Amino acid sequence: SSIFSSVPTAPPDAILGLTAQFRADPDPRKVNLGVGAFRTSSNKPYVLPVVRRVEQQLADDPSATHEYLPQDGLQSFCDASARLILGADSPALADGRVTTVQALSGTGALRVGFAFVANFISSSTSVYVPKQTWSNHRNVIPAAGLPRALEYRYLDPRTGAVDIAALVEDLDKAPAGSIILLHGCAHNPTGADPTQPQWLQILDVVKRRKLVPFFDNAYQGFASGSLETDAWSVRTFVAAGLDMLVAQSYAKNMGMYGERVGALSVVASSAGAEDAVRSQLKATIRAMYSSPPKHGAMVAAAILGDEKLFAEWEGELVKMSARIMDMRVKLKAALEKNATPGNWDRITSQIGMFSYTGLTSQQVTFMREKYHVYMTANGRISMAGLTDDTVQYVADAMKDAVE
Ligand code: PMP
Repeated sequence: SSIFSSVPTAPPDAILGLTAQFRADPDPRKVNLGVGAFRTSSNKPYVLPVVRRVEQQLADDPSATHEYLPQDGLQSFCDASARLILGADSPALADGRVTTVQALSGTGALRVGFAFVANFISSSTSVYVPKQTWSNHRNVIPAAGLPRALEYRYLDPRTGAVDIAALVEDLDKAPAGSIILLHGCAHNPTGADPTQPQWLQILDVVKRRKLVPFFDNAYQGFASGSLETDAWSVRTFVAAGLDMLVAQSYAKNMGMYGERVGALSVVASSAGAEDAVRSQLKATIRAMYSSPPKHGAMVAAAILGDEKLFAEWEGELVKMSARIMDMRVKLKAALEKNATPGNWDRITSQIGMFSYTGLTSQQVTFMREKYHVYMTANGRISMAGLTDDTVQYVADAMKDAVE
Protein backbone atom coordinates (compact mmCIF):
# COMPACT_ATOMS: atom_id res chain seq x y z
CA SER A 1 0.00 0.00 0.00
CA SER A 2 1.03 3.59 -0.46
CA ILE A 3 3.22 5.43 2.02
CA PHE A 4 0.41 7.98 2.02
CA SER A 5 -2.26 5.53 3.17
CA SER A 6 -1.48 6.19 6.83
CA VAL A 7 -2.09 9.95 6.48
CA PRO A 8 -4.85 10.90 8.93
CA THR A 9 -7.58 13.25 7.72
CA ALA A 10 -7.23 16.76 9.16
CA PRO A 11 -10.15 18.20 11.11
CA PRO A 12 -12.13 20.58 8.88
CA ASP A 13 -11.37 24.29 9.26
CA ALA A 14 -14.09 25.84 11.42
CA ILE A 15 -14.91 28.55 8.89
CA LEU A 16 -14.16 26.94 5.53
CA GLY A 17 -16.02 23.73 6.51
CA LEU A 18 -19.16 25.78 7.11
CA THR A 19 -19.12 27.18 3.56
CA ALA A 20 -19.00 23.64 2.15
CA GLN A 21 -21.97 22.62 4.31
CA PHE A 22 -23.92 25.69 3.19
CA ARG A 23 -23.29 24.95 -0.48
CA ALA A 24 -24.56 21.41 -0.07
CA ASP A 25 -27.83 22.55 1.59
CA PRO A 26 -30.67 22.46 -0.99
CA ASP A 27 -33.16 24.48 1.12
CA PRO A 28 -34.10 27.73 -0.71
CA ARG A 29 -34.44 29.64 2.59
CA LYS A 30 -30.79 29.07 3.51
CA VAL A 31 -28.75 32.07 4.68
CA ASN A 32 -24.96 32.08 4.99
CA LEU A 33 -23.78 34.24 7.88
CA GLY A 34 -20.48 32.39 8.11
CA VAL A 35 -18.66 33.89 5.15
CA GLY A 36 -16.01 36.52 5.85
CA ALA A 37 -16.48 38.43 2.62
CA PHE A 38 -18.54 41.47 1.70
CA ARG A 39 -21.81 40.89 -0.13
CA THR A 40 -23.96 43.52 -1.88
CA SER A 41 -27.53 44.33 -0.87
CA SER A 42 -28.57 41.58 -3.30
CA ASN A 43 -26.17 39.11 -1.66
CA LYS A 44 -23.60 39.08 -4.47
CA PRO A 45 -19.80 39.25 -4.31
CA TYR A 46 -18.61 42.80 -5.05
CA VAL A 47 -15.80 43.86 -7.35
CA LEU A 48 -15.06 47.52 -6.60
CA PRO A 49 -15.59 49.48 -9.84
CA VAL A 50 -12.29 51.30 -9.28
CA VAL A 51 -10.50 47.95 -9.04
CA ARG A 52 -12.21 46.70 -12.20
CA ARG A 53 -11.21 49.82 -14.11
CA VAL A 54 -7.53 49.59 -13.10
CA GLU A 55 -7.54 45.90 -14.04
CA GLN A 56 -8.88 46.78 -17.46
CA GLN A 57 -6.18 49.41 -17.94
CA LEU A 58 -3.53 46.89 -16.96
CA ALA A 59 -4.95 44.32 -19.36
CA ASP A 60 -4.73 46.87 -22.19
CA ASP A 61 -1.25 48.13 -21.28
CA PRO A 62 1.27 46.53 -23.66
CA SER A 63 4.15 47.36 -21.30
CA ALA A 64 2.60 45.34 -18.43
CA THR A 65 4.30 41.94 -18.27
CA HIS A 66 4.19 38.81 -16.17
CA GLU A 67 7.84 39.03 -15.15
CA TYR A 68 8.69 38.00 -11.59
CA LEU A 69 8.60 40.48 -8.76
CA PRO A 70 11.59 40.44 -6.39
CA GLN A 71 11.14 38.42 -3.15
CA ASP A 72 10.01 41.49 -1.23
CA GLY A 73 7.48 42.46 -3.89
CA LEU A 74 6.51 45.62 -5.73
CA GLN A 75 8.28 48.56 -4.17
CA SER A 76 5.68 51.20 -5.03
CA PHE A 77 3.04 48.97 -3.43
CA CYS A 78 5.12 48.48 -0.27
CA ASP A 79 5.89 52.18 0.11
CA ALA A 80 2.25 53.16 -0.39
CA SER A 81 1.08 50.46 2.03
CA ALA A 82 3.41 51.67 4.76
CA ARG A 83 2.13 55.24 4.29
CA LEU A 84 -1.47 54.03 4.34
CA ILE A 85 -1.27 52.29 7.68
CA LEU A 86 1.39 54.38 9.44
CA GLY A 87 0.33 57.76 8.03
CA ALA A 88 2.33 59.73 5.45
CA ASP A 89 3.72 61.89 8.27
CA SER A 90 4.76 58.93 10.44
CA PRO A 91 7.87 59.62 12.53
CA ALA A 92 9.01 56.04 11.87
CA LEU A 93 8.91 56.61 8.08
CA ALA A 94 10.71 59.95 8.45
CA ASP A 95 13.47 58.24 10.47
CA GLY A 96 13.74 55.34 7.98
CA ARG A 97 12.93 52.78 10.70
CA VAL A 98 10.35 50.86 8.67
CA THR A 99 10.98 47.80 6.49
CA THR A 100 7.96 46.80 4.39
CA VAL A 101 7.64 43.71 2.23
CA GLN A 102 4.74 42.51 0.11
CA ALA A 103 2.96 39.46 1.52
CA LEU A 104 0.32 36.90 0.57
CA SER A 105 -2.52 38.94 2.04
CA GLY A 106 -2.90 39.26 5.80
CA THR A 107 -2.29 35.59 6.51
CA GLY A 108 1.00 35.65 4.62
CA ALA A 109 2.09 38.81 6.42
CA LEU A 110 1.49 37.11 9.76
CA ARG A 111 3.19 33.92 8.61
CA VAL A 112 6.36 35.69 7.39
CA GLY A 113 6.36 38.00 10.42
CA PHE A 114 6.17 35.14 12.90
CA ALA A 115 8.82 33.14 10.99
CA PHE A 116 11.07 36.20 11.16
CA VAL A 117 10.53 36.40 14.93
CA ALA A 118 11.20 32.67 15.34
CA ASN A 119 14.42 32.83 13.32
CA PHE A 120 15.90 36.17 14.32
CA ILE A 121 14.51 37.00 17.75
CA SER A 122 14.05 33.58 19.35
CA SER A 123 12.15 30.40 18.54
CA SER A 124 11.01 30.32 22.16
CA THR A 125 9.39 33.77 22.01
CA SER A 126 6.00 33.74 23.76
CA VAL A 127 3.11 34.98 21.62
CA TYR A 128 -0.13 36.15 23.23
CA VAL A 129 -3.38 36.30 21.27
CA PRO A 130 -6.75 37.50 22.52
CA LYS A 131 -8.79 34.68 24.06
CA GLN A 132 -11.35 35.29 21.30
CA THR A 133 -9.49 35.62 18.02
CA TRP A 134 -9.48 34.71 14.33
CA SER A 135 -9.02 30.94 14.51
CA ASN A 136 -6.17 30.89 12.00
CA HIS A 137 -3.90 32.86 14.36
CA ARG A 138 -3.57 29.67 16.38
CA ASN A 139 -2.46 27.75 13.27
CA VAL A 140 -0.02 30.30 11.87
CA ILE A 141 2.03 30.83 15.03
CA PRO A 142 3.27 27.23 15.59
CA ALA A 143 3.53 26.71 11.82
CA ALA A 144 6.05 29.57 11.80
CA GLY A 145 8.22 27.77 14.33
CA LEU A 146 7.05 29.39 17.56
CA PRO A 147 5.45 27.79 20.64
CA ARG A 148 1.67 27.49 20.60
CA ALA A 149 -0.05 30.81 21.29
CA LEU A 150 -0.82 31.88 24.85
CA GLU A 151 -3.98 33.87 25.59
CA TYR A 152 -4.88 37.16 27.16
CA ARG A 153 -8.47 37.73 28.23
CA TYR A 154 -10.36 40.03 25.87
CA LEU A 155 -14.14 40.05 25.92
CA ASP A 156 -16.52 40.56 28.82
CA PRO A 157 -19.27 38.15 27.75
CA ARG A 158 -21.86 39.92 29.91
CA THR A 159 -21.49 43.26 28.13
CA GLY A 160 -20.10 42.16 24.78
CA ALA A 161 -17.37 44.82 25.21
CA VAL A 162 -13.64 44.60 25.95
CA ASP A 163 -12.79 43.57 29.51
CA ILE A 164 -9.93 46.03 29.79
CA ALA A 165 -9.09 45.24 33.42
CA ALA A 166 -8.66 41.52 32.67
CA LEU A 167 -6.74 42.28 29.47
CA VAL A 168 -4.25 44.56 31.22
CA GLU A 169 -3.93 42.14 34.14
CA ASP A 170 -2.95 39.32 31.75
CA LEU A 171 -0.51 41.42 29.71
CA ASP A 172 1.08 42.56 32.96
CA LYS A 173 2.18 38.95 33.54
CA ALA A 174 3.73 38.44 30.09
CA PRO A 175 7.53 38.12 30.05
CA ALA A 176 9.51 40.99 28.47
CA GLY A 177 9.99 40.49 24.74
CA SER A 178 6.72 38.59 24.30
CA ILE A 179 4.82 39.27 21.09
CA ILE A 180 1.30 40.62 21.72
CA LEU A 181 -1.03 40.10 18.80
CA LEU A 182 -3.50 43.01 18.55
CA HIS A 183 -6.33 43.49 16.07
CA GLY A 184 -5.85 47.04 14.78
CA CYS A 185 -9.60 47.55 14.42
CA ALA A 186 -12.81 45.55 13.93
CA HIS A 187 -11.75 42.71 16.21
CA ASN A 188 -12.62 39.34 14.70
CA PRO A 189 -14.78 37.56 15.91
CA THR A 190 -16.16 39.84 18.63
CA GLY A 191 -16.61 43.15 16.78
CA ALA A 192 -15.56 44.77 20.07
CA ASP A 193 -12.61 47.17 19.91
CA PRO A 194 -10.89 48.94 22.80
CA THR A 195 -11.91 52.60 23.15
CA GLN A 196 -9.13 55.16 22.63
CA PRO A 197 -8.50 55.52 26.40
CA GLN A 198 -8.37 51.72 26.64
CA TRP A 199 -5.82 51.56 23.81
CA LEU A 200 -3.69 53.97 25.85
CA GLN A 201 -3.95 51.61 28.83
CA ILE A 202 -2.78 48.74 26.59
CA LEU A 203 0.09 50.89 25.29
CA ASP A 204 1.02 51.65 28.87
CA VAL A 205 1.35 47.99 29.88
CA VAL A 206 3.14 47.16 26.60
CA LYS A 207 5.75 49.82 27.37
CA ARG A 208 6.03 48.95 31.05
CA ARG A 209 6.48 45.21 30.39
CA LYS A 210 8.63 45.75 27.25
CA LEU A 211 6.25 43.76 25.06
CA VAL A 212 6.35 43.70 21.26
CA PRO A 213 3.03 44.46 19.53
CA PHE A 214 2.14 42.68 16.30
CA PHE A 215 -0.81 44.52 14.77
CA ASP A 216 -3.06 42.55 12.47
CA ASN A 217 -4.95 44.95 10.18
CA ALA A 218 -7.47 43.12 8.04
CA TYR A 219 -10.13 45.86 8.02
CA GLN A 220 -8.53 49.30 7.64
CA GLY A 221 -11.21 51.62 6.23
CA PHE A 222 -13.74 48.83 6.14
CA ALA A 223 -14.67 49.13 9.81
CA SER A 224 -15.54 52.81 10.32
CA GLY A 225 -15.43 53.85 6.66
CA SER A 226 -12.36 56.00 7.45
CA LEU A 227 -8.81 54.82 6.73
CA GLU A 228 -7.55 57.29 9.34
CA THR A 229 -9.89 56.31 12.16
CA ASP A 230 -9.17 52.63 11.64
CA ALA A 231 -5.40 53.21 11.78
CA TRP A 232 -5.51 55.21 15.00
CA SER A 233 -4.39 52.33 17.23
CA VAL A 234 -1.37 51.42 15.09
CA ARG A 235 -0.28 55.03 14.68
CA THR A 236 -0.58 55.68 18.40
CA PHE A 237 1.68 52.73 19.17
CA VAL A 238 4.19 53.72 16.47
CA ALA A 239 4.30 57.25 17.88
CA ALA A 240 5.44 55.75 21.20
CA GLY A 241 8.67 54.62 19.48
CA LEU A 242 8.32 50.87 20.05
CA ASP A 243 9.69 47.87 18.20
CA MET A 244 6.69 46.32 16.49
CA LEU A 245 5.32 44.42 13.51
CA VAL A 246 2.37 45.38 11.34
CA ALA A 247 0.38 43.11 9.01
CA GLN A 248 -1.94 44.53 6.35
CA SER A 249 -4.51 42.93 4.08
CA TYR A 250 -6.35 44.36 1.08
CA ALA A 251 -8.77 41.44 0.99
CA LYS A 252 -11.70 43.29 2.56
CA ASN A 253 -10.99 46.95 1.94
CA MET A 254 -10.24 46.51 -1.79
CA GLY A 255 -12.33 43.37 -2.17
CA MET A 256 -9.32 41.50 -3.57
CA TYR A 257 -9.74 38.42 -1.35
CA GLY A 258 -8.44 35.78 -3.75
CA GLU A 259 -5.66 37.91 -5.22
CA ARG A 260 -3.70 37.71 -1.94
CA VAL A 261 -2.61 41.32 -1.58
CA GLY A 262 -0.96 42.32 1.69
CA ALA A 263 2.12 43.69 3.38
CA LEU A 264 4.30 43.18 6.43
CA SER A 265 6.14 46.06 8.06
CA VAL A 266 8.84 45.71 10.68
CA VAL A 267 8.98 48.98 12.62
CA ALA A 268 12.16 49.35 14.68
CA SER A 269 12.56 51.61 17.70
CA SER A 270 15.86 52.86 16.29
CA ALA A 271 17.26 53.06 12.77
CA GLY A 272 20.15 50.97 11.46
CA ALA A 273 18.93 47.40 11.09
CA GLU A 274 16.79 47.96 7.95
CA ASP A 275 19.17 46.38 5.42
CA ALA A 276 19.71 43.30 7.58
CA VAL A 277 16.00 42.99 8.33
CA ARG A 278 15.09 43.28 4.65
CA SER A 279 17.73 40.74 3.65
CA GLN A 280 16.36 38.20 6.12
CA LEU A 281 12.73 38.83 5.19
CA LYS A 282 13.72 38.23 1.58
CA ALA A 283 15.55 35.02 2.49
CA THR A 284 12.52 33.82 4.46
CA ILE A 285 10.20 34.54 1.52
CA ARG A 286 12.61 32.97 -0.98
CA ALA A 287 12.48 29.65 0.83
CA MET A 288 8.70 29.79 1.33
CA TYR A 289 7.34 30.83 -2.08
CA SER A 290 10.18 32.73 -3.79
CA SER A 291 8.20 35.87 -4.66
CA PRO A 292 4.66 37.23 -4.30
CA PRO A 293 1.96 37.50 -6.99
CA LYS A 294 2.00 40.61 -9.10
CA HIS A 295 -1.51 41.34 -10.30
CA GLY A 296 -3.20 42.48 -7.09
CA ALA A 297 -0.19 44.49 -5.98
CA MET A 298 -0.17 46.35 -9.32
CA VAL A 299 -3.86 47.17 -8.90
CA ALA A 300 -3.47 48.30 -5.30
CA ALA A 301 -0.36 50.37 -6.09
CA ALA A 302 -2.21 52.14 -8.90
CA ILE A 303 -5.11 53.06 -6.60
CA LEU A 304 -2.91 54.06 -3.67
CA GLY A 305 -0.66 56.15 -5.92
CA ASP A 306 -3.29 58.23 -7.71
CA GLU A 307 -5.27 60.94 -5.96
CA LYS A 308 -8.45 60.50 -7.99
CA LEU A 309 -8.51 56.71 -7.79
CA PHE A 310 -7.72 56.91 -4.09
CA ALA A 311 -10.65 59.27 -3.49
CA GLU A 312 -12.93 56.93 -5.39
CA TRP A 313 -11.74 54.03 -3.25
CA GLU A 314 -12.43 56.01 -0.08
CA GLY A 315 -15.99 56.52 -1.33
CA GLU A 316 -16.33 52.75 -1.76
CA LEU A 317 -15.16 52.19 1.83
CA VAL A 318 -17.82 54.55 3.11
CA LYS A 319 -20.48 52.71 1.09
CA MET A 320 -19.41 49.19 2.12
CA SER A 321 -19.14 50.07 5.80
CA ALA A 322 -22.48 51.92 5.68
CA ARG A 323 -24.24 48.86 4.28
CA ILE A 324 -22.91 46.79 7.18
CA MET A 325 -23.96 49.39 9.75
CA ASP A 326 -27.41 49.54 8.15
CA MET A 327 -27.76 45.77 8.56
CA ARG A 328 -26.78 46.09 12.21
CA VAL A 329 -29.51 48.66 12.80
CA LYS A 330 -32.11 46.56 10.96
CA LEU A 331 -31.24 43.30 12.71
CA LYS A 332 -31.33 44.92 16.12
CA ALA A 333 -34.66 46.59 15.33
CA ALA A 334 -36.16 43.30 14.14
CA LEU A 335 -34.96 41.45 17.26
CA GLU A 336 -36.43 44.14 19.50
CA LYS A 337 -39.71 44.31 17.57
CA ASN A 338 -39.97 40.54 18.03
CA ALA A 339 -39.43 41.03 21.78
CA THR A 340 -36.54 38.57 21.59
CA PRO A 341 -35.30 37.87 25.13
CA GLY A 342 -31.95 39.55 25.86
CA ASN A 343 -30.22 42.86 25.28
CA TRP A 344 -29.24 43.38 21.63
CA ASP A 345 -27.39 46.70 21.97
CA ARG A 346 -24.15 44.93 21.13
CA ILE A 347 -25.31 44.36 17.55
CA THR A 348 -24.96 48.08 16.86
CA SER A 349 -22.12 48.88 19.27
CA GLN A 350 -19.87 46.29 17.63
CA ILE A 351 -17.92 47.22 14.51
CA GLY A 352 -16.61 45.59 11.35
CA MET A 353 -17.69 42.60 9.37
CA PHE A 354 -18.91 40.53 12.31
CA SER A 355 -21.25 40.55 15.21
CA TYR A 356 -20.77 38.29 18.18
CA THR A 357 -24.36 37.54 19.04
CA GLY A 358 -23.86 35.64 22.28
CA LEU A 359 -25.77 32.66 20.83
CA THR A 360 -24.57 29.36 22.29
CA SER A 361 -23.29 26.54 20.09
CA GLN A 362 -26.57 24.65 20.76
CA GLN A 363 -28.56 27.65 19.54
CA VAL A 364 -26.29 27.90 16.48
CA THR A 365 -26.97 24.23 15.67
CA PHE A 366 -30.71 24.76 16.19
CA MET A 367 -30.73 27.66 13.72
CA ARG A 368 -28.85 25.66 11.14
CA GLU A 369 -31.01 22.54 11.45
CA LYS A 370 -34.42 24.21 11.68
CA TYR A 371 -33.89 27.41 9.65
CA HIS A 372 -30.84 26.69 7.45
CA VAL A 373 -29.12 29.77 8.84
CA TYR A 374 -25.37 29.15 8.96
CA MET A 375 -22.89 30.75 11.36
CA THR A 376 -19.75 29.69 13.23
CA ALA A 377 -20.26 27.70 16.45
CA ASN A 378 -19.14 30.68 18.56
CA GLY A 379 -22.27 32.63 17.53
CA ARG A 380 -20.43 34.99 15.19
CA ILE A 381 -22.46 36.29 12.26
CA SER A 382 -21.17 38.07 9.20
CA MET A 383 -23.29 41.20 8.85
CA ALA A 384 -22.50 41.36 5.13
CA GLY A 385 -24.32 38.04 4.72
CA LEU A 386 -27.63 39.76 5.62
CA THR A 387 -29.90 41.61 3.20
CA ASP A 388 -33.20 43.48 3.49
CA ASP A 389 -34.83 40.26 2.27
CA THR A 390 -33.35 37.98 4.94
CA VAL A 391 -32.97 40.14 8.04
CA GLN A 392 -36.50 39.47 9.35
CA TYR A 393 -36.19 35.73 8.69
CA VAL A 394 -32.89 35.62 10.59
CA ALA A 395 -34.33 37.66 13.47
CA ASP A 396 -37.31 35.28 13.68
CA ALA A 397 -34.96 32.28 13.72
CA MET A 398 -32.86 33.93 16.46
CA LYS A 399 -35.98 34.54 18.56
CA ASP A 400 -36.99 30.88 18.22
CA ALA A 401 -33.43 29.81 19.12
CA VAL A 402 -33.14 31.85 22.32
CA GLU A 403 -36.67 31.16 23.58
N1 PMP B 1 -6.63 38.60 10.36
C1 PMP B 1 -7.92 38.67 10.65
C2 PMP B 1 -8.31 39.13 12.00
C3 PMP B 1 -8.87 38.35 9.68
O1 PMP B 1 -10.16 38.44 9.99
C4 PMP B 1 -8.45 37.92 8.41
C5 PMP B 1 -9.44 37.56 7.36
N2 PMP B 1 -10.48 36.78 7.71
C6 PMP B 1 -7.07 37.86 8.17
C7 PMP B 1 -6.20 38.21 9.15
C8 PMP B 1 -6.42 37.47 6.89
O2 PMP B 1 -7.11 37.33 5.75
P1 PMP B 1 -6.36 37.37 4.37
O3 PMP B 1 -5.21 36.42 4.46
O4 PMP B 1 -7.40 36.91 3.40
O5 PMP B 1 -5.92 38.77 4.14
